[in-house]
Amino acid sequence: MRILISGASVAGPVLAYWLTRHGYRVTVVERAPTLRKTGGHAVDLYRPAMTISEKMGVLPRIEERATGTNRMTLHPEGARRPVRVDLSKIFNATSDRHVEIMRDDLSEIYYGAARDDVEYLFGDSITAISPDGEVRFDNAAPRRFDLVVGADGLHSNVRRLVFGDESRFSTFIGAYLGVLTLPTISGLDGEVLIHVGVGRTAGMYGARHLDEARALFLFRSDRELEYHHRDVRRQKELLRRTFTGLHADVDRWLDELDRTPAFYFDSITQLRMDAWSRGRVTLVGDAGYCPGPAVGGSTTLAVIGAYVLAGELARAGGDHERAFPAYERAMADHVHGGRASALSAARTLIPTSRFGVRGLVQGARLVSTLPAGPSRALLRLTTKTARLYNSMTVDDYPPS
Ligand SMILES: Cc1cc2nc3c(=O)[nH]c(=O)nc-3n(C[C@H](O)[C@H](O)[C@H](O)COP(=O)(O)OP(=O)(O)OC[C@H]3O[C@@H](n4cnc5c(N)ncnc54)[C@H](O)[C@@H]3O)c2cc1C
Repeated sequence: MRILISGASVAGPVLAYWLTRHGYRVTVVERAPTLRKTGGHAVDLYRPAMTISEKMGVLPRIEERATGTNRMTLHPEGARRPVRVDLSKIFNATSDRHVEIMRDDLSEIYYGAARDDVEYLFGDSITAISPDGEVRFDNAAPRRFDLVVGADGLHSNVRRLVFGDESRFSTFIGAYLGVLTLPTISGLDGEVLIHVGVGRTAGMYGARHLDEARALFLFRSDRELEYHHRDVRRQKELLRRTFTGLHADVDRWLDELDRTPAFYFDSITQLRMDAWSRGRVTLVGDAGYCPGPAVGGSTTLAVIGAYVLAGELARAGGDHERAFPAYERAMADHVHGGRASALSAARTLIPTSRFGVRGLVQGARLVSTLPAGPSRALLRLTTKTARLYNSMTVDDYPPS
């Protein structure tokens, strides 16, 4: 049985690994000319994704590549003194297993796990999929596959080809995000700096093995802003307009906008599809159920989804008419939970009022001053996302 996966970031390589372990022949087509190695942004792996990575034998490499972020300095707008928080306290209290890692490092590790058993077509993209499995590409000659899986992210090409325009499924959740790469400031060493004001939050972090840092900008907007997705100048201008004056640090990060080698800007949208399989085609990860970039545990959801999809296919003996609905049923609660938690995380991360900013700061102050026991109890009440993802249970699908 031949299976085509579109996308080689997180969900794609994890799915490719497990499908080959279950005995399927796999081809992955990736639009980028090579595996991306610019770092991307930091993503979180919670307990179920750590367990799946352990089964793949790649957990030690993932832990070795962790960003090493363990301290947060939180500056509320207008306050004289920042609040310092020991992040390891938070991680220990909310999760027995958690790793923060740069997305491109994670992708490279998952890719390496099955590189020799999978055919990769870089620099190509699907242009058409017929109901009988004939697939056309931008560059490669047409080929027939038994199944096609879209693992090509929030703006999925496969989803557009098979299910229709993205606007039918995406819901704007009232916020935008921007990320830029900038030179590491000395002394950052495991620290994330956050400046928070009403409706806008900016942060900077690095990773112990990278000689550059990332600045992340999150801001609220009641309505969708007008800009073309290729108009980078306008996107940078929107960031400048929103963040100038929040703090001198932030102004310095904004100064890098004209020099940055990597820039990302997007609305924070949530995908809401009732079903994400049609005929021989299904979706996995952000392509099918992104709860919202930067506000949820979507990477964990992508890893779980890839593992479950491969497992259900194997369980159904390759019969996709049984496997796809079983995969969707197994993921439904996780997907719904992820959506709800992303909305609440967005409210906390980008407060809408002075009261919200004060709440965030007081929470951070309490965590940093209380002894371990009470702060653990407090954290269990306030860190919903981590608790949700850590509590997700996933069936075991051992390869026969
Ligand atoms: C700024 C930012 C911050 C984030 N922060 C976090 C975080 O803190 N924690 C967290 O868990 N998650 C975070 N995320 C989300 C996380 O990056 C994704 O959930 C995760 O990468 C999902 O993986 P995926 O494989 O489903 O999709 P993606 O990582 O989006 O990968 C899609 C892949 O498909 C490829 N592709 C696209 N179009 C085509 C095509 N036409 N043909 C072939 N290939 C194609 C792309 O090049 C890419 O390789 C963040 C995302 C962003 C943008």
